[in-house]
Amino acid sequence: MRGEMPASPQVETIFNREVLEEKIKRFQQDGKDKMQVIADFDRTLTKAEPAALLSLIEKSGLLGADYSREADELFKEYYAYELDQEWTEERSKKMREWQDKHTALFIKYGLTKEILDQITESSPIQFRAGTDEMIKKLEAANVPLVIVSGAPRYLIESHLKKAGLWHPNIHIIANDYEFDEHGKFTGICEPVVHVANKDEILNDGYHRYQEIESRTNVLILGDNPDDVNMIGRHLWSNIISVGFLNPSSKKNRNCYTKVFDAVITNDGSMKLPNGIIDQVIGQNKTPQ
Ligand SMILES: [Mg+2]
Repeated sequence: MRGEMPASPQVETIFNREVLEEKIKRFQQDGKDKMQVIADFDRTLTKAEPAALLSLIEKSGLLGADYSREADELFKEYYAYELDQEWTEERSKKMREWQDKHTALFIKYGLTKEILDQITESSPIQFRAGTDEMIKKLEAANVPLVIVSGAPRYLIESHLKKAGLWHPNIHIIANDYEFDEHGKFTGICEPVVHVANKDEILNDGYHRYQEIESRTNVLILGDNPDDVNMIGRHLWSNIISVGFLNPSSKKNRNCYTKVFDAVITNDGSMKLPNGIIDQVIGQNKTPQ
């Protein structure tokens, strides 16, 4: 591995070789049974374009023009808070308000399970190059992939299933939509996940927490500096963070290189995370 390695004319992979190799060594010493991957979904496991999962609902037009207008008004009111770099209670409160108002719109305009299924069927979302390889590798090695996302769990799961990437080692900690017996959306279960509370979501309140809490070496994948907070407040032993600085990101390169151990620009592939996973899995202490 070299310090700066242009994988193609546009894609750069930026990291400090010594620091990263030192961290990988620690992961290798503990073996794959101590490792887990915690990843954001939108624009991390998926390509930066064309869309994030939640926006597919609006783009589909299936909830009508009035829904789109009202959702857009909310966007204008709250998006500035999302862009704010500060990790404050005020920001978290505003993000929650946005979620609650948006949830009310889903009820008002009649979101249904059927609509979500239609959206999945015609979805333009594509997984990032190498995500399928990564998911297969983790499944084969029985290493958990924990997806922490503010998107609807239903859509994350349906997209993984559609791509043939749904496996028992995958955990999805995202927004659980509730439906009545006719498939009509009725609300979101607590805890509601949004961009500013990802640090509060992964904890012993999660029903499969015991499957991951002893895996204290964490590879984090995200496309927003906030995503490093997905690890919650548990004291993990070793952390390697990889950030995707997508062209659509409003935040600058300095911010990413400060926060993440490695930064991949311009919607690059999973080559680097896959290489890290290979190095750890290949060093497993208990051969199978
Ligand atoms: Mg994202």
